[in-house]
Amino acid sequence: MQTNKLLEYDKEHIWHPYTSTTNPLPVYPVSKAEGCTIHLKDGRQLTDGMSSWWAAVHGYNHPVLNAAIEKQLKNMSHVMFGGLTHEPAVELAEQLINITPDGLEKVFYCDSGSVAVEVSMKMALQYWYAKGSKTKTKFATVRNGYHGDTWNAMSVCDPGTGMHHIFNGKLPIHYFAEQPSIAFDTEWKPESLVPMEKILSENSDEIAAIIIEPIVQGAGGMRFYHPQYLAGLKTLCEDYNVLLIADEIATGFGRTGQLFACNFASVRPDIMCLGKAITGGYMSFAATIATANVADTISNGEPGVFMHGPTFMGNPLACAVANASIELLLQSNWQNKVQHIENTLRNGLSSLKENTAVADVRVLGAIGVVELNEAVDMASIQAMFVEAGVWVRPFGKLVYLMPPFIITDAELQKLCDAVCKVVVESTKALVC
Ligand SMILES: *Cc1c(COP(=O)(O)O)cnc(C)c1O
Repeated sequence: MQTNKLLEYDKEHIWHPYTSTTNPLPVYPVSKAEGCTIHLKDGRQLTDGMSSWWAAVHGYNHPVLNAAIEKQLKNMSHVMFGGLTHEPAVELAEQLINITPDGLEKVFYCDSGSVAVEVSMKMALQYWYAKGSKTKTKFATVRNGYHGDTWNAMSVCDPGTGMHHIFNGKLPIHYFAEQPSIAFDTEWKPESLVPMEKILSENSDEIAAIIIEPIVQGAGGMRFYHPQYLAGLKTLCEDYNVLLIADEIATGFGRTGQLFACNFASVRPDIMCLGKAITGGYMSFAATIATANVADTISNGEPGVFMHGPTFMGNPLACAVANASIELLLQSNWQNKVQHIENTLRNGLSSLKENTAVADVRVLGAIGVVELNEAVDMASIQAMFVEAGVWVRPFGKLVYLMPPFIITDAELQKLCDAVCKVVVESTKALVC
């Protein structure tokens, strides 16, 4: 298809994420992606700084992951999971149970991160229902969170940026404590737990679970908070008889420098949600993993089963590529790579700290964030990044990098240089 035809049809008929159909932001046609490079249809090559939203940790078109899918494809791409099972699903469960915190033992497969969050919330509600508690039907969380775009996931996203006002009165109402205020690498202050403790002490008979992104608040603001906050939440949950759901969909599989961000605080949640990088960015797939206590309580109560079962549950292609991706990660010396990316991002972005248009520069693991004072103009800044030969997609006031772990020094330097250059150029007018 000719590029102008493709773009015309796309503009006329296809919805892209968070944009208008009548006045959409520009899109760039891609012909292929390989390693850390996205090839545009017009021949331009972009170094990828996004890992396609946290997912493509091994880069694109990886021979090992391709082979895993091809091998599985020859056996079956899918069979229903009701009444049937298969090796890829069992091997993946074993792998996930081995690498997640001890005590998470019951794996529920689903289709996407948002569904994994829905499933976790449903598990928490069914847990208390099975225990005969009629009142524990709400959730507590913190501001600036992001847990996905489906209905209940949206209800625990930040009430401001999460667009609650549009659905005012329709979304379930939950409890929001102020966001964790102590940054990752600053001095811990126990007072920062007081807002959540107040909510729990006044309302724990209504609260089924706390749901939170461990350590890194992703799409809700790209903030890194103190591990003691997470450890404190776990203790509060025990004290007030509330479950803890860790949404590791963005942070899981090494991105933060720990395999799971919960490990920073040695916290074992009651339920953990995994997604995004679970398949190395190859397919939409997710898992919700619960403790035996949660699963057994649900199963021993009324109606004796967990009431969920998506059509593509346990999809063999997704399980097979997830197995291959996790094996590849564990064999890859990923800790050193992520540490090296962290060091390079710190050096490469540090000059922006002096820029008066920049509010903050922060780095954790393979995540580098430049927070500006003003929101960027998406269309123009996107074009500047493409012009600079990189794929970086800012949102709001945030320009950030989370490259594939396989990125080379030269590619990473190119990304940092492009961010510095584009931030300086795009904010010049604002600074003067
Ligand atoms: C992306 C994300 C989700 C939603 O995952 P989808 O696959 O987009 O549905 C949920 N929680 C967190 C923390 C995420 O980053």
